[in-house]
Amino acid sequence: MISQNAIETLRKTEIGAQGLFIDGVQVEATSGASLPVTSPIDGRPFASIADGNAADIDRAVKSARKAFEKGSWSRAAPAFRKKVLTKFAELVEKHADELAVLGVRDNGTEIGMAYKAEPLSAAGTIRYYAEAIDKVYGEIAPTAENVLGLIHKEPLGVVGVIVPWNFPLMIGAWKIAPALAAGNCVVVKPPEIASLTLLRLAELASEAGLPAGVLNVVTGLGAVTGEALGLHMDVDAIAFTGSGPVGRRLLEYSARSNLKRVFLELGGKSPNIVFADAPDLKQTAVVSANGIFRNSGQVCVAGSRLLVQSAVYDRFMDELLSATMRLKVGDPLDLTSDVGAVSSAEQLDKNLGFVARATEEGARLVTGGQRMLTETGGSYMAPTIFENVMQDMQLAREEVFGPVLGVMRFETEEEAVRLANSTIYGLASAVWTANLSTAHRMVRAINAGVVHVNTYGGADITVPLGGVKQSGFGRDKSLHALEKYLELKAAWIAL
Ligand code: NAD
Repeated sequence: MISQNAIETLRKTEIGAQGLFIDGVQVEATSGASLPVTSPIDGRPFASIADGNAADIDRAVKSARKAFEKGSWSRAAPAFRKKVLTKFAELVEKHADELAVLGVRDNGTEIGMAYKAEPLSAAGTIRYYAEAIDKVYGEIAPTAENVLGLIHKEPLGVVGVIVPWNFPLMIGAWKIAPALAAGNCVVVKPPEIASLTLLRLAELASEAGLPAGVLNVVTGLGAVTGEALGLHMDVDAIAFTGSGPVGRRLLEYSARSNLKRVFLELGGKSPNIVFADAPDLKQTAVVSANGIFRNSGQVCVAGSRLLVQSAVYDRFMDELLSATMRLKVGDPLDLTSDVGAVSSAEQLDKNLGFVARATEEGARLVTGGQRMLTETGGSYMAPTIFENVMQDMQLAREEVFGPVLGVMRFETEEEAVRLANSTIYGLASAVWTANLSTAHRMVRAINAGVVHVNTYGGADITVPLGGVKQSGFGRDKSLHALEKYLELKAAWIAL
């Protein structure tokens, strides 16, 4: 784990003006324009990124295509790709302190969480796919004797990666690593408010021996660079994590351009269901509070709807309140902070809008609801709990993506299932019960990509992550994610 001393040194590092990363080098944006990077820790600018546009996306896609056609990566032996990616993972680990602090200055996640969830997780992901790629075999089809049917697995070509600001390195690696391992060339469009770590990641990849053009990063506004990537005629696939509205646009861009495949990982409104026989109510409350409030609720799988069985409702709410009150909100670069800053002033305003609406609609505010630490100039929000939340309220239906929890009561298992499945989303969920049969029934009944039992979050790279319904489709993580970046080609050979 990083030390406070190391953090204090790194927090003062000058970052300066960052270029785009195209064809293995940093270059200026075609327009020469840049965007300031403001830290949510104190509201001050501390760097700038190049303000890319459609011409820059075109340069990056051309560079990726050229590298793909050249074949020094796409047609290289998997053992070679494994070697380079393993070195890449080592470099990310070696630079974990630097990457973690840089990312926190950019997006405000508490360092305790960011350190593990960003560089260490990204390094683990890169290593996982590096190790996997030379174990992927083609197939021989079970044909008649006079023919040979071979099924080859080939890279797609140029893959566009678009990620959100909450965990850009972790989520970026979930897409970049399997895409590269499979032999694709990649153009990354980082989130405009948290681009710095992905730029540094590309430099480390280059240092590890990734050929020029295989991994490019174009910063800029989503509506400009993201759109240009989505509409580009020479991009074969887009792997996206972000909001539903932008996901919809990407499907439109695909339809309007070259029918590129689009993989969407979108939002959630995940139910966390506490049955009266939950094994340890106190521990359940602690994990549930962490499951919504860490990283200021800016976690796609956050358990933002808490359903509590009536028989233990009051007792559980007492435990939940004390677990929540113990969370220290503060400077995300202070190792003692449990919850850091909200990623931006705009996101904080949006969160407060949800609080106002929940109050208007009749939910009861149990704790929080306000901005904190205004004297810092940063964006901080108190962990917020509402109870008496009804199914027709905004708080029960829409994703806040902030530290705001809505609590509902239920009486029976059927009612819990009905409430759990009553949103447009289906990303994550949890069930707390000592009854094995209840647990298994709930795993089957809940419509979500993951059902946690007696825990929340923490699933590692070995299991797939992704949603159903309007939480998207396609899976990140695990060997299943590799399949997204490999095309099947059949050879039918008369013998
Ligand atoms: P967002 O959709 O606003 O932005 C995501 C990315 O899309 C950013 O890089 C942005 O620049 C880009 N973008 C914006 N407009 C675009 C356009 N017109 N065309 C192409 N790209 C465009 O989301 P956000 O606010 O960065 O992230 C929060 C959302 O991400 C939440 O809904 C959250 O649930 C979701 N999320 C999902 C997962 C998951 O694994 N399912 C993980 C993390 C976050």
